[in-house]
Amino acid sequence: MGNKLREMIIAREKSAAYKAAERAKAEGAYPYFRSIESAQDTEVIIEGKKVLMFGSNAYLGLTNHPKVKEAATRAIEVYGTGCAGSRFLNGTLDIHLELENRLAEYVGKDAALVFSTGFQVNLGVISSLTGRNDYIILDEFNHASIIDGSRLSFSKVLKYKHNDMKDLEQKLSKLPIDAIKLIVVDGVFSMEGDIVKLPELVALAERYGGSIMVDDAHGLGVIGEQGAGTASHFGLTDQVDLIMGTFSKSFASLGGFIASDHDTIQYLKTHARSLIFSASMSPASVASTIAALDIIQSEPERLEQLWDNTRYAIKLLQEEGLELGPTESPIIPIYIRDNDKTFQVTRVLQDNGVFVNPVVAPAVPADSTLIRLSIMATHTFSQIEEAVTKISHAFKLIGVDTPKTAYEAS
Ligand code: PMP
Repeated sequence: MGNKLREMIIAREKSAAYKAAERAKAEGAYPYFRSIESAQDTEVIIEGKKVLMFGSNAYLGLTNHPKVKEAATRAIEVYGTGCAGSRFLNGTLDIHLELENRLAEYVGKDAALVFSTGFQVNLGVISSLTGRNDYIILDEFNHASIIDGSRLSFSKVLKYKHNDMKDLEQKLSKLPIDAIKLIVVDGVFSMEGDIVKLPELVALAERYGGSIMVDDAHGLGVIGEQGAGTASHFGLTDQVDLIMGTFSKSFASLGGFIASDHDTIQYLKTHARSLIFSASMSPASVASTIAALDIIQSEPERLEQLWDNTRYAIKLLQEEGLELGPTESPIIPIYIRDNDKTFQVTRVLQDNGVFVNPVVAPAVPADSTLIRLSIMATHTFSQIEEAVTKISHAFKLIGVDTPKTAYEAS
């Protein structure tokens, strides 16, 4: 490796974030790449021990569902293990088309297109829709894949303050009236758990001539009719131009999709490079996504249970006096506001049988570090009680001292 590149890598490794990670490793508290020895469920096996899982994005708890697993197994029997090619060439199966039709109907759009991951959807779609003289406008807390998709585009990229519609209006009002403006937002924000202010955003897009794309990775299966997502939740499906989703969360699989009108989907089929130049979703992933969608649509009680569990967890955490973020979803951020303590709490919790995800600098400012709880429909109330008791205990043990909850019940 060239000396300059090595020097640059070593310099990066001396950064504050790297040093915090090194300290965590030395203390045995490094919380990343933890190896799980079982299926993702409300309980997993780590280092041979049972641990309650409160870090999974499988909000409806379908990753280990017998019907979903059976569908995947059957697909392997019929179609084999992989498609060995891109959707564009030899990699389109009849079940890819079936899934696309089902998804379009589910989210209320004319057509849909499935990609091998949600990340690839955002890379391929955002980079190919707008041109050199156009604008892409982003919420500052959007997911990394949206940021990267816009980096790959030739358009000018602007960011507005998180969910701040005044700031968005200021930005929009300065742009040429006839320029194409694509506003891309998370439906449910992945760290904070709050929901985009879609009605205000739609009104601004109409006033200033913008188009809207909602990344609903965390909204699908969670909010809206039958879990159909953020646009459905607000009754604004027709006002949102593009709806993006991933199968790696409520759908318990792997892959992602974009849904829109026929012309846009047709355009993306021949312009989205992450679709054309990458192998298609594997048969097992497609079939398990279809099976998950069947369950989501036929068992509305799962969604109700998810929300009962979410409300219960928030109530218990508030009673413990912990500082929660402004969540409106099963994603519950609990502030610690110290990098090292965030790692330590995560480790103590794992040792005591609870898995949570730490969120530290540089992903968030150093004084806003947190642990993030993800609630599933399949958690029992007693699992939630156990987790909250252990979280409260870990905070006391490590000496986390944050003000009482900022969360306001809505
Ligand atoms: N968008 C958001 C908001 C996400 O949270 C994620 C996954 N973390 C993605 C896109 C990417 O999805 P995938 O896991 O399917 O690549």
